[in-house]
Amino acid sequence: RAKHEGKNGVRTFQPVMGSETAERMTLEQDLREALNRQELTLHYQGQFDAHTQALLGFEALVRWAHPTQGLLPPMKFIPVAESSGLIVPLGAWVLQEACRQAAAWNAQGQNLTISVNVSALQFEDPAFLPAVQAALDASGLNPHLLILELTESAVLNNPEAAAQQFIRLKALGVRIALDDFGIGQSNLSLLRRLPVDILKIDRSFVQDHREAPEDAGEVYIGVMINLAHGLNLRVTAEGVESSEQLSLLEELGCDSIQGFLLARPLPPDDAAATFGTRGPPPSPVPSDRQH
Ligand code: C2E
Ligand code: MG
Ligand code: MG
Ligand code: MG
Repeated sequence: RAKHEGKNGVRTFQPVMGSETAERMTLEQDLREALNRQELTLHYQGQFDAHTQALLGFEALVRWAHPTQGLLPPMKFIPVAESSGLIVPLGAWVLQEACRQAAAWNAQGQNLTISVNVSALQFEDPAFLPAVQAALDASGLNPHLLILELTESAVLNNPEAAAQQFIRLKALGVRIALDDFGIGQSNLSLLRRLPVDILKIDRSFVQDHREAPEDAGEVYIGVMINLAHGLNLRVTAEGVESSEQLSLLEELGCDSIQGFLLARPLPPDDAAATFGTRGPPPSPVPSDRQH
């Protein structure tokens, strides 16, 4: 977009900023109504055993079936939900619905975990713990099957308070995953202070070595897996798109796998249609890695 400069070199950004603010306010108002009109929906992406490729559970990923703009991904509305405080009721709805769905599936003979993303403001809100308890009570889901996924940004503001909150959550029986885990300094120091159960290796590490299998990404993944196992944590890798990535992760001892290779996020009925199926078999180990 061309920048308009006035005679004095004064840029006239005003109209653009004005319309962006208006757009944002409209989005916020729409989102408020969407919550009441039940336009939000959850898609479910399978998480699989890295060795047997058995389905272990699902990550619930929120979508907004917007009346005019179609199905919106979370990055289009979660930021607005956070800045407006709507993330608290939105997050409570996601918890309720994900637990209800998982309990319904498990009542049909499955034993699936359900992973739910929790954003920073939601986690810090006093209503969060009661919302988790309410979702468990209403659904009857075995608490051990609920996994809360938090990123370091959700706990970085106040790691001490976060640690206390983790302890309260774990007293309910739920498990906690550190999402988008990398080897940044804050990630590592948080790990020393927080009682987490699962590390989710960020997809940037998984996908780094897509074109160059010999590059250092593999070393970092190995370090993260060893670190997790040394601390008695389980490791999930996200963003697995190729059979090469899958066999490497399996070889390095990764516990579970999530990614487009095995399953995309799907509406509930399509997700349920995958029960009992296996993902594609891993491709043969490349000859240069067979010693
Ligand atoms: P995340 O928790 O790291 O979720 C994984 C994201 O990676 C999802 O995007 C998923 O569709 C995508 N993904 C999965 N496998 C692959 C793959 O093999 N390749 C690639 N390129 N991408 C893959 P999505 O659904 O757009 O969600 C984006 C983010 O939005 C999530 O990242 C999470 O941080 C947030 N989010 C999603 N649902 C919720 C929610 O209910 N509440 C909150 N607070 N945040 C949510
Ligand atoms: Mg996640
Ligand atoms: Mg993630
Ligand atoms: Mg991510």
